[in-house]
Amino acid sequence: MIDLHMHSKISDGQDEPEELVQIAAAAGISVMSLTDHDTIGGIARARATALSLGIGFIPGIEISARDNRELHILGYGVDDRDADLIRFYNENRSHRIARRDRLIELFNKNGIPITLQKIEEVNEGKSSGRPHIARTLVAMGYAESVNDAFDRYLKTPEYYCLERPKPWADEGINMIKRAGGVAVLAHPYSLKLPDKPFRELLSQLIRSGLKGIECYYSRHTSEEVEYYRAIADEYGLFCTIGSDYHGPWMKPEIKPGTGKNGSLLFAEAYEQETLSRLRSAIEEVRK
Ligand code: AMP
Ligand code: ZN
Ligand code: FE
Ligand code: FE
Repeated sequence: MIDLHMHSKISDGQDEPEELVQIAAAAGISVMSLTDHDTIGGIARARATALSLGIGFIPGIEISARDNRELHILGYGVDDRDADLIRFYNENRSHRIARRDRLIELFNKNGIPITLQKIEEVNEGKSSGRPHIARTLVAMGYAESVNDAFDRYLKTPEYYCLERPKPWADEGINMIKRAGGVAVLAHPYSLKLPDKPFRELLSQLIRSGLKGIECYYSRHTSEEVEYYRAIADEYGLFCTIGSDYHGPWMKPEIKPGTGKNGSLLFAEAYEQETLSRLRSAIEEVRK
């Protein structure tokens, strides 16, 4: 089993990078990738654990690009010592902190007494991601679940307009390429685009250097998987397989390797092809 989309506590997952790799290995995953949001800070630790447990490891990152929707680009094979990526990570950290503080102010203005101390208390010291705020709202009784907190507050225009600066998709793709990595479009369903605008976006991303699509994703229906696979074949892109595991706190329904209610199990027949195409694409960049 392979899982090329997992988050650790270095972004907004529940587990330390070492723990995450142990969880993956225990779940029967033989090749994994760590793809924290906008950071490569957990790669060295996860890689060392993967090496000691004898499971395959592909360094990764998930970059949030500027868009009205969730446009996320996965980068595989990136060098975690790349100076530009490290600078990007540091800049993003300050943008996230500024966004967090603006969100706290808005909640307070709206009569919800959330504080930085409370967010850190609920999240073992972490506070930089929207999911950390969402969990705190649940703990304080202002939402029923993380998902509910996003629907009620974080995804509404009032809160969403406080979003942090993000790179354009082509800038994200270029940064991944320059760091020796291969760019893949994450969870395309979250773009919520009809066929024609989706194809237009895809053509633009391919011109920037996109090489793959995350066809097999926990929340894709089998119809969506078929649709994205057909599109990938048509455009000469390869497909990847990822759960987007964050641990039960953030996304309780998603299991490592198998996804939501086993939604990734039928990707098994495609694993070898995914790995060989991804690995040759990474080799290609390094040449
Ligand atoms: P951030 O990068 O801090 O803006 O947060 C993005 C994270 O929030 C990603 O992990 C998303 O999967 C997560 N997220 C977005 N919407 C939801 C939702 N409705 N329920 C749970 N997590 C969400
Ligand atoms: Zn996340
Ligand atoms: Fe994502
Ligand atoms: Fe993710």
